[in-house]
Amino acid sequence: MTIRKILTEPDPILKKISSPVDEVGAEEQKLMDDMLQTMYDAKGIGLAAIQIGIPKRIIVMDLSKEGKTKEPMYFVNPVIKNKNQVLSKYEEGCLSVPNQFVEVNRPSTCEVEYLDYNGEKKNLKCDNLLATCIQHEMEHLQGITILTYVSKLKRSMILKKLSKQKTNEDRVVL
Ligand code: ZN
Repeated sequence: MTIRKILTEPDPILKKISSPVDEVGAEEQKLMDDMLQTMYDAKGIGLAAIQIGIPKRIIVMDLSKEGKTKEPMYFVNPVIKNKNQVLSKYEEGCLSVPNQFVEVNRPSTCEVEYLDYNGEKKNLKCDNLLATCIQHEMEHLQGITILTYVSKLKRSMILKKLSKQKTNEDRVVL
């Protein structure tokens, strides 16, 4: 397993629309392993393949509590159905928008149809954090990040901050 580099806003690759996977083979499984490792390393609870620069419709998630048994989830070619009219609000963060939080309202429940790690067709009913998380990750597959939900002014402030963070990372003290 390899920890991959997570792309951050405003990287144009994050705006790409991801393509469906033909079948779940060794290559896809290796990608899912890497994605999971990368997500754990970055202390995230969800990651879409495009966030490491791969435009495939693949998502990994793990909502287990820290220190508890890990519960990795894999979604290939996910499709969301039956979104609830009732919305729930979370302050969402994103590994591609580091250290920023945005309030987002999303349907509080939904269903997701997908292929699992072994390529088997699955259907999962989601609520609360799980519903929010899968909807957040699904938007990455459409080239959308949480910056869609903030005002133009706030977006440019956040982007300015992120570009500063990047410059700092490049700094070396000798
Ligand atoms: Zn995200």
